[in-house]
Amino acid sequence: MKQYLNTQHDFLSQSPIRYMSLLCAEKGGINLSQGVCDTPLPELVGEAAKQAITSGANSYTRCDGLVELKEAIADKAREYNNIECDPEKNIVVSCGATGAFFIASLALLRPDDEVVVFEPYYEYHVNMLKALGVKPIFVPMAPPDWRIDMTLLEESITSKTKAILINTPGNPSGKVFGADELEAIAEICERRDLLVFTDEIYEYLVFDGRHHLSPASIPSLRDRTITISGYSKTFSATGWRIGYCICHEDLSPRIAALNDLFYICAPAPLQIGVTRGIRDLPPSYYENIRSDYEVNRDMICGTLNEIGLTPYVPQGAYYILLDASDVPGHDSKEKALYILDKTGVALVPGRAFFRGEHGENTLRLCFAKERHILERACEDLKRLRF
Ligand code: PLP
Repeated sequence: MKQYLNTQHDFLSQSPIRYMSLLCAEKGGINLSQGVCDTPLPELVGEAAKQAITSGANSYTRCDGLVELKEAIADKAREYNNIECDPEKNIVVSCGATGAFFIASLALLRPDDEVVVFEPYYEYHVNMLKALGVKPIFVPMAPPDWRIDMTLLEESITSKTKAILINTPGNPSGKVFGADELEAIAEICERRDLLVFTDEIYEYLVFDGRHHLSPASIPSLRDRTITISGYSKTFSATGWRIGYCICHEDLSPRIAALNDLFYICAPAPLQIGVTRGIRDLPPSYYENIRSDYEVNRDMICGTLNEIGLTPYVPQGAYYILLDASDVPGHDSKEKALYILDKTGVALVPGRAFFRGEHGENTLRLCFAKERHILERACEDLKRLRF
């Protein structure tokens, strides 16, 4: 039957993350490959969703989201992201940040358009663009802190380039874009008339006293930016599928219409649960998750340094890329299999985040795990020495 498949999507072969997860399950190991947080959902968020179900909030909502949720997002965007937005004009709630990126991309990009993507990249971003017939143009970021060479960026832009894609804090690099880089990108976008898509799903996870900076808070980027975020990571609710985008009022009606076409709406009771979380969780909730992840990061980085697998210490998000040059194996897949075999800990081959050869000496791990699991993973990893 395979002859019936649309070959345009042949690039969607099995993801290395899923492959490592399956092998890890077979082996009964510790899975640090998938970015699924096993930290708990905030209680009041879960309670609000349960109550919404029992009190009958089980029908479709407006296609652009519940008014109460959009109002809560607008207040949060004003206070946390320094983005002024009107809940009725600038916000579309969708099925996760992934859904929001999909409908916004579909609304704004055409086949054969080019979008600049910084490398290492989040595989879904690249595959989504490819699935839409859009060409990703890769601009490498330089380790260890993943700075962007603005000359390279400028040189990558052609007459077909429509947008620059930013992910801050970034998966897998952990890069947190600073004001200087965003100002430089803003200047390029204005001069070359480009849009910015920015995925800020890890916006609350910034370390070492850094602050999250939203590209749309830069005045010249405000109108040309589509800010994408959601609550999968912040509320440890990846299966709830609540995300959103913030954009100019000329763009939101079409994006909402596409959301209607593909999803009709995000899950109604879960929109209510998330609204409650945004409204009622105290600032200490966000500070606690941030500092918990920072402790996890430091613990894992300590272990990696001890065993001779140098980590590129992340500035934010909950992943670590590490230099696997000394791990036996011809490529990143063999290196990941070696580590799984020797320790029972599953990491992701770097090839998932780079083109061609670039990622073959790199591995990624996710530290969004309960502390005792990470402690066990650290003990298991300490069986290795490079
Ligand atoms: N964006 C990035 C950069 C991610 O790493 C992930 C999940 O790993 C997502 C989006 C998915 O977000 P959502 O669950 O809201 O679709």
